[in-house]
Amino acid sequence: MEGGPGIGGSYIVILCPRCGSIRYAEDWRKTAKCFNCGYRIRLRDPEVRILYKTGRRDEAVEAVKRYKMMIGAGRRQPSRSKP
Ligand SMILES: [Zn+2]
Repeated sequence: MEGGPGIGGSYIVILCPRCGSIRYAEDWRKTAKCFNCGYRIRLRDPEVRILYKTGRRDEAVEAVKRYKMMIGAGRRQPSRSKP
């Protein structure tokens, strides 16, 4: 099951648990290094938020761009409501 792409292979868009930076990674990998802080993100870690999943790389790239824009635009108003 590990060591290569599965059927078709898929991509996930993830949030770095350390710095909150967004990147995409191949779903079949165990880890992905954060481009921003260099943290080795464990893709199976429940702490790692998966924002998006797709079978196409270009779609994953687009999703990263979209989420980065959303974070940049929504910084002033927190989307999470208080408990
Ligand atoms: Zn990071």
